[in-house]
Amino acid sequence: MGKVWFVGAGPGDPDLITVKGRDLISGADAILFAGSLVSQAATQWAPDHCEIKDSKGMTLEEMVEWMIEQGQENRQVIRLQTGDPSLYGALIEMVQPLDAAGIDIGIVPGVSSAFAAAAAGVESLTLPEITQTVIFSRIEGRTPMPEGESLAELGSHHCTLCLFLSITLLHKVREGLLAAGWHEESPVLVVQKASWPGEERIIRGTLADIKKRCQEAQIASQAMIIVSPTLGARAWPDLKKSKLYDKTFSHQFRQATKQATP
Ligand code: SAH
Repeated sequence: MGKVWFVGAGPGDPDLITVKGRDLISGADAILFAGSLVSQAATQWAPDHCEIKDSKGMTLEEMVEWMIEQGQENRQVIRLQTGDPSLYGALIEMVQPLDAAGIDIGIVPGVSSAFAAAAAGVESLTLPEITQTVIFSRIEGRTPMPEGESLAELGSHHCTLCLFLSITLLHKVREGLLAAGWHEESPVLVVQKASWPGEERIIRGTLADIKKRCQEAQIASQAMIIVSPTLGARAWPDLKKSKLYDKTFSHQFRQATKQATP
């Protein structure tokens, strides 16, 4: 029996796949990649005999059937997923029928677009004394939000929010966060095609104007929305520093060199 590997291809730049993911591609017999979101360049390491298929026009059943067939023919199969497979990746829906067919599976994590977007904007998702929490979520679309997960509720924590699959619903982001006590002037970062060579676009704005700015820039897909009290910290004159590197703070690996000033 072969094995099906779910491999996180990363956010777009083919160089952002992990070494393990790349090695698995080099040894693959069959690759099914999410063509709408994963760069075909990610398959560049595949050996000549490898069958490469784009799943763009396939249903879940067709994809699973194909992977089972390949697995039963004793092949090493790779399902290349965008970003990290555990986020909005229909992962378990594919794992269950493979389990039922007795096909071994493995998962290789990937760099999520949330991290690629933060990197593009030179932003930190956490900052001392500002927020120490990140929420990955989305605005309700065809997939309903479970109870307690409306943006008005999630936003009440005033932590960092990385919103997937929501770029056409920026008006709802504004409504939800205003209801949670955020301000019209709260900063928002939108990154389209984060890390894709030559295609990445960064738009900055506020809850009040980000929708208009994205419309003007014609950004309506493949974009990450980050709303956070940390945004723009690169230019803050009064940044609170991390205790870990504070010279007055001892920890397991380093003794304090100076007493804290009272
Ligand atoms: N598993 C993926 C998310 C898949 S859902 C991950 O970890 O990134 C698809 C959504 O992810 C898109 O609607 C968009 O919000 C976001 N996304 C994926 N790739 C992106 C990229 N390169 N730049 C910005 N957002 C991206």
